[in-house]
Amino acid sequence: MRVVLLGAPGAGKGTQCKNIIQKYDLVHLSSGDILRQHREKGTQLANKAKDYMDSGALVPDELIVEMMLSAINEAPKAGFVLDGFPRTVNQAVELDEALAATGEKVDIVLNLTVHEQVIIERLSGRRSCPKCGAVYHVVNLKPKVDNLCDNDGTELIQRPDDNPDVVKNRLRTYHRQSKPVVDYYKSRQTEIQFYEFNANEAAEKVRDSLFEKLDALVSVQN
Ligand code: AMP
Repeated sequence: MRVVLLGAPGAGKGTQCKNIIQKYDLVHLSSGDILRQHREKGTQLANKAKDYMDSGALVPDELIVEMMLSAINEAPKAGFVLDGFPRTVNQAVELDEALAATGEKVDIVLNLTVHEQVIIERLSGRRSCPKCGAVYHVVNLKPKVDNLCDNDGTELIQRPDDNPDVVKNRLRTYHRQSKPVVDYYKSRQTEIQFYEFNANEAAEKVRDSLFEKLDALVSVQN
């Protein structure tokens, strides 16, 4: 099962991906997480990507496509959930072409829709663990001990690109470059299962709607 999860920054893609991979035994391939891992290691790719990431712009397609296609190549046969990729129509086309070369395709696209005000509230309160990547929120998802990660006790940080100015730029970037990806997949609904979900709801409710749909799709496939 090859799944693409779409949605603006703050739509809850990361949280829902974790739910999906656990239940359906898939691999989570998050372009943002992979880029942040490169930055931890100080790779060449990280040097090239840094300024784009810190300003809320997109990293150039050729860098991202190469990085994600190699992650997909290494993923187990059972399949994957892509999170944060593709983010431009060009990336989506390149993904389709690469999968088609081995007789594969994206099977399911899930689009999380969310109001801009909700996004701003979620991102401005988001805190993450620099060590394990766990994500919290100062109001909606507090750690057990104030500002410390439940998993490893590391002090939580605010991602630099979650500061309000960069968030505004990320949203502009989303509307300009990433929303057309939704239309791209909608136009291919004869080959791809495309579904939208109201992600303004609490995470558990969104999870249940996603599971309901995926359960139905999996039972048809089997
Ligand atoms: P995310 O954690 O998904 O919000 O990604 C953080 C940042 O990484 C984005 O603001 C972009 O600068 C960069 N990035 C992640 N995924 C992509 C992508 N598919 N294309 C271009 N840039 C990306």
